[in-house]
Amino acid sequence: MSLLIDLHIHSTHSDGTQSIREIVDLSRKQHLKAIAITDHDTVSGLPEVFRYIQETGSELAVVSGIELSTQFEKLDCHILGYLFDYENLEFLRIIDFYKQKREQRAEKTVVQLHELGFPVSMDLIREMAQSGSIGRPHIARALVESGLMPNVNYAFDYYLGYHKPAYVHKEKLSPEQGIAYIHQAGGVAVLAHPGSYFNESIVDRFAGFGLDGLEVYHPNHSKEMVMRLLKTAKSRNMLITGGSDNHGSVKSDTYIGAVRVPYLFYEKLLAYHQNLNLTA
Ligand code: AMP
Ligand code: FE
Ligand code: FE
Ligand code: ZN
Repeated sequence: MSLLIDLHIHSTHSDGTQSIREIVDLSRKQHLKAIAITDHDTVSGLPEVFRYIQETGSELAVVSGIELSTQFEKLDCHILGYLFDYENLEFLRIIDFYKQKREQRAEKTVVQLHELGFPVSMDLIREMAQSGSIGRPHIARALVESGLMPNVNYAFDYYLGYHKPAYVHKEKLSPEQGIAYIHQAGGVAVLAHPGSYFNESIVDRFAGFGLDGLEVYHPNHSKEMVMRLLKTAKSRNMLITGGSDNHGSVKSDTYIGAVRVPYLFYEKLLAYHQNLNLTA
């Protein structure tokens, strides 16, 4: 039996539907050897995952993770951070700043929804997001929960999606800033699911910003895309990572077990990180 890992998992601390405990239990059931919780723009789930692993004495390895939303020209680029110090004050300050921005954006969205005739409550949206970072999925769920819209897809397709009447722009980091913040907290930066906009020159530009690796294995990457990304990462000596992008029951294609990522890439990630810190 091959040893497998999953380095891209969302929990209820962002827009996933599963708690940290559920995720750890599920990962064990699937005999995964290493995981990373990579919630959108927040580290609020990390203390609990490390505590739970310690309490339950599992052989499952966990590394700190995050998925930062960045914007590069017209592209939304997600950057994964791994093995950083999630108590680093400068890092916490930056993510808190963007958390406030998300909160303000949600408030603006609510005003627009009210004007469109959907009196959804900001408190319910906050409740949906618990203590984590608020995103459009929480707004969509609150609309459904309030009986104002039939389902989450409808909410995105007609109101919350890009260019739709209740869409509000989100202020984002640049990839250069995102990578630099991850590095200053001692971590490594990996480009998440680049398949939708991949070309070699974009990878080279990001490499110029200090990008350390590419997320090669992802449920939305075709076999051909995986081969192209592997080739690109290898020729540039970049890290290779992968994960399911699990969000729980809200998405049908991204769930724990949806991709097979060899354990070898976890070992390479650790070795690379250790080397960085030795030479820093
Ligand atoms: P936000 O970060 O608030 O802009 O929300 C982005 C998140 O919304 C993404 O991570 C997706 O999980 C989710 N999302 C985007 N489009 C859709 C859609 N059409 N249906 C369901 N979820 C979506
Ligand atoms: Fe998401
Ligand atoms: Fe993403
Ligand atoms: Zn993700």
